[in-house]
Amino acid sequence: MRPLGGPEMVCHCLIVQTGDGLTLVDTGIGVGAFLGFTMTTGAALDVSETMPARLRALGYDLGDVRDIVLTHLDVDHAGALRHFPRARVHLHAAELEAALRPPSAGERSRYRPVQWEHGPSWVTYGEAGEPWLGLEARPLDGVDGVALVPLAGHSRGHSGVAVRDGDGWLLHAGDAYYVRGELADPPRCPPHLRLAQWSVATDHRSRLANVRRLSELPPGVRVFSAHDAQELAAFA
Ligand SMILES: [Zn+2]
Repeated sequence: MRPLGGPEMVCHCLIVQTGDGLTLVDTGIGVGAFLGFTMTTGAALDVSETMPARLRALGYDLGDVRDIVLTHLDVDHAGALRHFPRARVHLHAAELEAALRPPSAGERSRYRPVQWEHGPSWVTYGEAGEPWLGLEARPLDGVDGVALVPLAGHSRGHSGVAVRDGDGWLLHAGDAYYVRGELADPPRCPPHLRLAQWSVATDHRSRLANVRRLSELPPGVRVFSAHDAQELAAFA
């Protein structure tokens, strides 16, 4: 995505080998993006960059995907859900509730029910969790080494996703922040992206508190957001 004023932004997803199948963390924009979203974000709309195309390029079959964990249900995270109709879809209960029965006009416009009209097998997680490195985790049902880490604020049930990586962890922080500089002290973020985050947040104060907690995670946790291009490039 190339929003006016930059910087270039990505949709960072994960493909995780779990058991005898694959688990996805977020699905990206997919195909069939919406005009309003495309215009405001300058999305490239390159089919070769979509999750189904990336999976096939890596030699996988779309049917290999057994589970999908979503940080939240915004269009650029749930866009390719329909390509995996048999996968179980794990997410925070508050996020699914907000998307199915939006409590505000803003939430009615941010979600696109067409992205889940095929009727996914939802698996939801509530408030009860276990301590995890200063945050809380909900280990996924039936998926070893992956846990939902609630980070509400960007949306009602927004969550990070922790993935066991050898002796450490990856933490996909979704849209808890947009650019790496937000984890610095003092935080750095281009004004238009600060405004964008403020305008879509359901709880701005909680969002900022979560950014602070992310900045204090111990070594051994590799945290990255969904949209920072440099964080994605560092994986290459
Ligand atoms: Zn996003």
